[in-house]
Amino acid sequence: MQQLSENPVSLEAKHTYRWEWARLTALLLVLFSLGGYWMSNERASTSARERQRLEAQARVIEQNIERQLAGINAALAGVRYDLVSGDRNAEKNALSLNLKVLADAMPGVRSLVATDSQGVVTVSNRRELVGQNVSQRGYFKAPQAGLDATTLYVSPPYKSIQAADVFDVTRVMIGSDGKFFGVVSATLDPEYLEILMRSAVYADDMVARLAHGDGKVLLASPQIGQEGTSAGSGSGAGRASGTRMLAIRTIMPAQLRMDKPLLVEVSRDLSAVYATWRIEAFKFAIFCMLAGMAACTALYFNQRRRTARERARAKTEAIQRENTQQLAFALKGADLGLWDWNIVADETVVNDREWQMLGYTPGEVPLTTRFWRAAIHPDDQTAVQTAFKAHASGSTESYRVEHRMRHKKGYWVWVLNHAMVMARDAQGAPTRVLGTHLDITQRKTAEADIAEHSAQLERANAQLSRLSVTDGLTGVGNRRLFDETLAAEWARGVRQEQPLALLLIDIDHFKLYNDSYGHQGGDDCLRRVAGVLGSCVKRGGELLARYGGEEFAVLLPSNDLASAASFAQRCLDRLNAARLPHRASPVSAWVSMSIGVASIVPSQGLSPDSLVRRADAALYGAKKLGRAQFVCAEPTPTLI
Ligand code: GH3
Ligand code: MG
Ligand code: MG
Repeated sequence: MQQLSENPVSLEAKHTYRWEWARLTALLLVLFSLGGYWMSNERASTSARERQRLEAQARVIEQNIERQLAGINAALAGVRYDLVSGDRNAEKNALSLNLKVLADAMPGVRSLVATDSQGVVTVSNRRELVGQNVSQRGYFKAPQAGLDATTLYVSPPYKSIQAADVFDVTRVMIGSDGKFFGVVSATLDPEYLEILMRSAVYADDMVARLAHGDGKVLLASPQIGQEGTSAGSGSGAGRASGTRMLAIRTIMPAQLRMDKPLLVEVSRDLSAVYATWRIEAFKFAIFCMLAGMAACTALYFNQRRRTARERARAKTEAIQRENTQQLAFALKGADLGLWDWNIVADETVVNDREWQMLGYTPGEVPLTTRFWRAAIHPDDQTAVQTAFKAHASGSTESYRVEHRMRHKKGYWVWVLNHAMVMARDAQGAPTRVLGTHLDITQRKTAEADIAEHSAQLERANAQLSRLSVTDGLTGVGNRRLFDETLAAEWARGVRQEQPLALLLIDIDHFKLYNDSYGHQGGDDCLRRVAGVLGSCVKRGGELLARYGGEEFAVLLPSNDLASAASFAQRCLDRLNAARLPHRASPVSAWVSMSIGVASIVPSQGLSPDSLVRRADAALYGAKKLGRAQFVCAEPTPTLI
């Protein structure tokens, strides 16, 4: 029992469990991989979508600034023309006025100035600037160094007199003599551009910046410091830089011939871009974790339950095995065949004695239901079925049935089958039946012998009793039968108050017959006469018996004298008709007989002898009257 409780899980089950874990792991890995793949796709499409938006915003800013620069360039070109090629004598004041109109017309342009070759402001939209020497200003120096009238010089940002961050776009003027004439420059107010930039910003974490080609930031929206752009030159490249996603556009349209480009950079914080995706990814990870945990827990508990079930089953089987072994041991001494029928599996386990009883070596044939059906004697099938069904339905504790089983060699072995259902399914149907077979062939043979002997004895007795009441010569009833029947019929007659008639018949001159035909011939004659009389006795209850010698008696219950007389006449007629020759008879050529007829209603006061005496007297009368006739006794009985 100790061993049973520690029953380990079978190797097969362990193998199955490992496989299940491997499959589950593989399944989860596939699921996680698919999920991961989907999430990374989501991330990529989020990134692409965002980049496109940033690109679009950068392009909007680029186009606006390009348009702005084109306008300013046109204005500068106009002023240059007025100053260099126009009417030299034109009023400076009128020009300044002109510039004012232009500057006012161009939003974002703070001031427009034109200098002479020495850097002295000659005209400006702002009067206070006229006459000032700006030769040290960047917008005068830089373009001057190149002396290229076709180039639009874009300055890096600087602090204006009003301490605002500004930048200039400048064109060099070359006089008709080919010498440097001065510069015409527009100072741009980045505040105006900031409105433009701000309109492009659609998220809190988004920054739009405008930088000068040499790296200095002209303006940023919102203001986040003045660090340089991380992007180099190149047009339209959206990219992720560090923790931000960037879209950069380079402003350097060919028709403006700018010396340095302007860079538009629109960026977003990567963590903000991916915020939604991160939440989704987190949810998915949690889902995967929970799903994985749930699947693992479910499998773990499922396997534990199965292990418990398997252990319980193994334990039951071990107990059953042990029981069977004990039983087999016990049965060995009892010389019993043991059979253990598993109905579900349709197999029967039997002990060696059972195999031997059926004439097989152990395991020689599969012991299926088909085998047993063929083994049980056809005449015993119903009895076996009936006994089993009655027991299976629960009406008996066990069942016993004696039946025959076919030995391998073909003869029949009688067994006492004693069995009981050991296990049932949930519906109560038997699933296992255990039984024993006791070989009772010897007993059955002995019983059959006894039965046969008894029958023989019975037959002998019957014959004996028949013989004891039969006359040996004629085969009709003997005197003993006559006496018994007379007593019985007499008693019945007393009870029923019915008449009882008797005929006493004596063959005439039989001594002479013997003398004439010999004793053997006499015997034959007796048999013939008995045959004739027997043909007259037909009704039940009538008895013909040999009364003695050549005398016969006929008992006729419920016959009065008249009917008995007619019976006697019938007998005489039949004997006459038989024409048995009697050459020695003095009364006839044929065998004849005399009959005494008597009939009495029996009563307590009379004895059967009285009837016999009366018939005998009547017979005597018939002899006297000449034989070959019947004589009726007197109707009134005489009390004795
Ligand atoms: P009746 O009756 O007509 O007066 O004449 P009877 O010759 O028949 O008279 P009785 O009764 O004296 O003779 C009977 C004879 O029947 C005597 C006996 O030899 C013979 N008998 C009796 N029993 C048998 C028998 O079993 N076989 C033969 N063959 N003869 C028998
Ligand atoms: Mg006689
Ligand atoms: Mg006679």
